[in-house]
Amino acid sequence: RTVLVTGATGFIGSALVAQLLARGDSVVALSRNATKARRKLGARVQIVESLAQIAPSAVIDAVVNLAGEPLAGGPWSAARKQRFVDSRVQTTAQLIDLFERLASPPAVLVNGSAVGYYGERGDDTLDERDGPRDEFLSTLCQQWEAEARRADMLGVRVCLLRTGLVLGAGGGLLAPLLLSSRLGLGAVFADGRQWQPWIHIDDEIGLILHLIDHPTLSGPFNATSPEPVTQRELMDILATVLKRPRWLRVPASLLKLSGEMSVLFMVSQRVLPTFALESGYVFRYPALATALRQIIGR
Ligand code: NDP
Repeated sequence: RTVLVTGATGFIGSALVAQLLARGDSVVALSRNATKARRKLGARVQIVESLAQIAPSAVIDAVVNLAGEPLAGGPWSAARKQRFVDSRVQTTAQLIDLFERLASPPAVLVNGSAVGYYGERGDDTLDERDGPRDEFLSTLCQQWEAEARRADMLGVRVCLLRTGLVLGAGGGLLAPLLLSSRLGLGAVFADGRQWQPWIHIDDEIGLILHLIDHPTLSGPFNATSPEPVTQRELMDILATVLKRPRWLRVPASLLKLSGEMSVLFMVSQRVLPTFALESGYVFRYPALATALRQIIGR
């Protein structure tokens, strides 16, 4: 089978591409920089810098859409926030155009989204049946998902992957947390009672493959471990695994200095992966301590 991956050079995308190749699938990767993508993904992947390069006669069985301007790594200016939205929604719109052009559209689109869809929810237990909120990240996810859902009309099965904090070696948001924890500076943000949905990178990839492979599955799926933790628990377990103290607390007032980006650390979302579990997906790393030990190698 042939799978088209956008955002293929990213943290999740590159791990996905490796797994697809390992199981014998062919991969077409969309990247804005073919040279970088070739270096990162190797010679077996077909790389395109624009979806217009894909001929109408091309056979693409599945699409995984992960491309988007990174949310971390700088203040959220109005211009950047617009790029967060545009990079995701426009790439998705270009995919819909491609599906319309293809003689035979793909069977399935697994589209990125995030737990940010649910907004700030305190201690409420949330699953895919819960609605969104009128907050920036929620609106971004709603627009991204709405664009993807247009593929429904073309007979494409659409799965929406509402991902939590992805934990894995060599990337994502764990890297800065790990560094500070190794130095014994693992910080709890604000009062630490915020619920932090998370998922091990192997389960993120496992769930994407599960959604590709099961023709009856569609709609939203929370890509989060069935055992969410509070931010304080996350940092405590990390400190224990690293055998380091965890003594720093970053007050909410200081965090807010990082501007609106502080929502990434302060928002509370107690999200459960109800639909993934009901669909028969078995998590390899439901427990945080085991997940972190595997990643850190202890
Ligand atoms: P990365 O930032 O590692 O990779 C994203 C990819 O998107 C890049 O490789 C890049 O590919 C492409 N990209 C970046 N900026 C733009 C842009 N302005 N326009 C078009 N393409 C762009 O992301 P992750 O792999 O960590 O995440 C994948 C998706 O999942 C993202 O949309 C992210 O928001 C979402 N997500 C991630 C979570 C996490 O914890 N990692 C949690 C929840 C959601 P190239 O340079 O080759 O074009």
